Amino acid sequence: LRQSALESMTPAVSLRSVSRHFGQVRAVDAVNLDIAEGEFFALLGPSGSGKTTCLRLIAGFEQPTSGAVVIFGEDATRVPPYRRPVNTVFQDYALFPHLNILDNVAYGLMVRGEKKAARHQAAEEALSLVALGGFAGRKPSELSGGQRQRVALARALVLKPKVLLLDEPLGALDLKLREQMQSELKALQRRLGITFIFVTHDQGEALSMADRVAVFDRGHIQQIGAPQDVYDRPETPFVADFVGSSNVLPSNMVEQLAGQSVPASLRPEQIRLTDTDGKLIGNVIGSAFLGAANRIELDVGGVRLSVLLPKTAAVPDLGSLVNLTWDDGALHVMRGEHV
Ligand code: ATP
Repeated sequence: LRQSALESMTPAVSLRSVSRHFGQVRAVDAVNLDIAEGEFFALLGPSGSGKTTCLRLIAGFEQPTSGAVVIFGEDATRVPPYRRPVNTVFQDYALFPHLNILDNVAYGLMVRGEKKAARHQAAEEALSLVALGGFAGRKPSELSGGQRQRVALARALVLKPKVLLLDEPLGALDLKLREQMQSELKALQRRLGITFIFVTHDQGEALSMADRVAVFDRGHIQQIGAPQDVYDRPETPFVADFVGSSNVLPSNMVEQLAGQSVPASLRPEQIRLTDTDGKLIGNVIGSAFLGAANRIELDVGGVRLSVLLPKTAAVPDLGSLVNLTWDDGALHVMRGEHV
């Protein structure tokens, strides 16, 4: 029911066959995308895959070479950034060092011509939203990285955008703080009900925060889906490899195993070692202790596979042969190579 309700609504943002070429570089190439109102949507991909350009096209900082950007049902392709119901939180936060936190947050309202009392009140509300109520008088240099990140968020939220664009919002934070801010951001988005579109190259971040993820590769979207779909049912070898480092079994191996001449993905955590009735035999060529588990690397007739072993399981010796098995359904067949 929820899915059909989403489909019947006007999307918050649509890209209709949008391309942005820089000379010979096809940064974004014929991308189609519908993002529903209230969604937390991730643009995920490696460096240079076109996600930031996509975000800038939605913001209006970039013009498409062809195609249309539609925001809440209206063609916004030629609408300047400041007239779109969209705000951006930049990776470096772009705070003014000489202004205190309150004035940083109130800045956009000042540009809009709001009176001082009104903009200070709105800025204080935005600061309490991000749990920085007591910090209004400080300068940016007197805050931690995570607090600065929240100021940047408050500064965008005070303008009451319908869509918030976030470019690698947690990129400047250390791992621990990143994880904490991931759940804070998600909770904030749920509370406000605003559409969040964020760019990341970190698959863990995309999977943990987003309602849906678009996986980018060289200017194309390879797959769009819920985190669980993209992780469990990657449609292409690129997605299988990029989202969670799956093993990619070549088509001739899959033909032997499943009678279908297509490549397939198999997650390292779904493979088990067995004493009898193995589906494949592998030669142990490496192992690594990961803290919560062990990973072993295998050579299976020239194909390299990773297997994640529970910490309690014995790690086989280098050079030994092991039998591998997995549950029915773990092997996920994909469409062709790259799109
Ligand atoms: P990153 O994570 O490194 O920011 P990205 O996925 O966001 O990467 P983009 O920044 O969108 O990728 O860049 C996509 C491609 O377009 C890259 O090859 C980049 O060099 C190129 N590109 C982006 N902006 C410009 C520009 N203004 N002029 C020329 N080429 C550009």
